[in-house]
Formats: sequence, C-alpha cells, structure tokens
Amino acid sequence: MGHKGDIHKLTVALPEGKCVIHHIDPETSKSIAALLDAFGIQYTGQSLPAATQTVLFELLKPKREHLSEKEREELYEEQGGKCENCASALDK
Ligand SMILES: [Zn+2]
Repeated sequence: MGHKGDIHKLTVALPEGKCVIHHIDPETSKSIAALLDAFGIQYTGQSLPAATQTVLFELLKPKREHLSEKEREELYEEQGGKCENCASALDK
C-alpha cells in the first residue's frame, strides 16, 4: 500500500451513472463493516472517512417521537398544561 502508481479505484461510466470499484483491505473493511453494523447501517464498501461521516450524521439526526392524540392529551394533563422547560401555558 502507498506506492506511487498503485491503482486505488476504477471508475466506469455507465448509462445509469458512475460505477466506482475501490481497492479494499480486508482487515480495514471488516472494521468499517463492524462500525456501521453497530448503527444498523449497511456496509457497501465505503471508506473509513465516508463511514464515519454516515455514523456522525446518524448520531446527529434528531429523534423526535410521534405522539398519538391520546398520548399528547395525557402528556398535556401530566404537565398541567404547562411547558416542561419554562412552565408557560401551552396551547392545546
Ligand atoms: Zn417553554
């Protein structure tokens, strides 16, 4: 690895788009696959930087629960019709 003139990737232009074939080191790809697997993301031959970025974005994705009408009602009652953070009255 790291020799000048080594082939790192092969890009083929297809009618559907670009097909890129990467050189993958089996040990590295096993680690990257394990990292992505821990986050339920499919490994498709990404490089470590690309995989890391995908994981970062996954972690930064806001997790907002969707409440049913009934759950919303219960939460409203539970908090006495007030905002949990600042205790100001909530619109229903
Ligand atoms: Zn508030």
